[in-house]
Amino acid sequence: MPSAEVYFPENHMITIHLKRNREKSVRGGNPWIFSGSIDRVSGTPSAGEHCIVRTFQGEPLGCGYYNHHSAITVRMLRWGEEAFNDAALSTAIQQAIAQRQSILGDDTDSCRLINSEGDFLPGLVVDSYTGGLVMQIQTAGMERMREAVVAALVSVCTPPFIYERSDPESRAREGIAGAEGICYGSLPPGLVIRENRLVFGADIARGQKTGFFFDQRHNRALLRSYAAGRCVCDCFSYSGGFAVSALAGGARSVDAVDQSEAALRQLRDNVAANNLDGGRVTTYTADVFSFLRETGARYDCIVLDPPKFARHPGEVERASRGYKDINLLACKNSAPGGIIFTFSCSNAVDARLFRQIVFAAAADSGRRFQLLHSLAAGPDHPVNLAHREGEYLKGLVLRAEG
Ligand code: SAH
Repeated sequence: MPSAEVYFPENHMITIHLKRNREKSVRGGNPWIFSGSIDRVSGTPSAGEHCIVRTFQGEPLGCGYYNHHSAITVRMLRWGEEAFNDAALSTAIQQAIAQRQSILGDDTDSCRLINSEGDFLPGLVVDSYTGGLVMQIQTAGMERMREAVVAALVSVCTPPFIYERSDPESRAREGIAGAEGICYGSLPPGLVIRENRLVFGADIARGQKTGFFFDQRHNRALLRSYAAGRCVCDCFSYSGGFAVSALAGGARSVDAVDQSEAALRQLRDNVAANNLDGGRVTTYTADVFSFLRETGARYDCIVLDPPKFARHPGEVERASRGYKDINLLACKNSAPGGIIFTFSCSNAVDARLFRQIVFAAAADSGRRFQLLHSLAAGPDHPVNLAHREGEYLKGLVLRAEG
């Protein structure tokens, strides 16, 4: 069992006072406090140390953890005067996991269990792969609670394994070293997960992110409902979440494009594992920009699910040009009546900006489009309503005039 260490407020003295009138967003539930909002810090906190947050006048707002290495200097853990200790951590983990029960069942056996700020556990992401856990610890504050996190996950989930795949870039921003490898149990070879009654092999240790992108589960089901009889192009296909769904929905053909040969190998295995007709699939190891520019094909359905083009606000302009380019190419390459599923997973590009970019691309193509759906990540990726930055995945479904 985890030790009963009390992080707040009994056993430490670090106090953060905000600048005058800077408490509104924290009071409203936003967990991020930027360095520019902080007036003074009492004590000399080390990276990730727990702290009490007070208004300029000294009124307590709650507790969080502090890291002077990060532009997000404090992340809130609790509001009000409630203590944050190992028991509170374990309860938050338990609550997050309990909310996923409606997702898991015969159709789907794997999903995100803990979604960082969206589950009021900033810096902690946990995905379940048929009960085995892949964990990301992204901040110095969460790193300090590592032992208690692992103990709580073991006691709540009794997993066969916990494997760490923390994103080295996020950790570097926090001033902490990368972390990867087995934390508990042992990793089985050849892991297979079930999503929407389809099966997918997932490479937890070497694949992208934690091995599979659970955030698109609902959107893949939607694509499947549109796929019958269509010639589909799955751009940035990775291991074929969309491509396999399209085939299962009766697509006439699927072209899958990704720069990673390993991902496309996994895609072909995933097609076979679902007993789908591999003859209807062609994989292209290629850059999507060049592929769409050079292909003469006109598709009835195009999926654009690129990686994060903007990793921080400084990259938004460059990213916007990238999104505009691929969306313009998709608009030009759509057959009459063709459907485009287009996504952005950059937090720094908000839903409004993304819509503007896609609409501008559609206008530049000289064709007319209808908007059919606005999409987001599924409910296993909850967003704290006061934390707009948590809403990272945006999608639009367009139909070209017939
Ligand atoms: N659609 C996928 C997830 C996509 S992840 C799914 O449903 O699971 C993004 C993918 O884009 C990665 O597999 C990466 O290899 C690929 N990628 C990144 N930049 C690329 C580029 N310029 N051209 C082709 N593929 C690219």
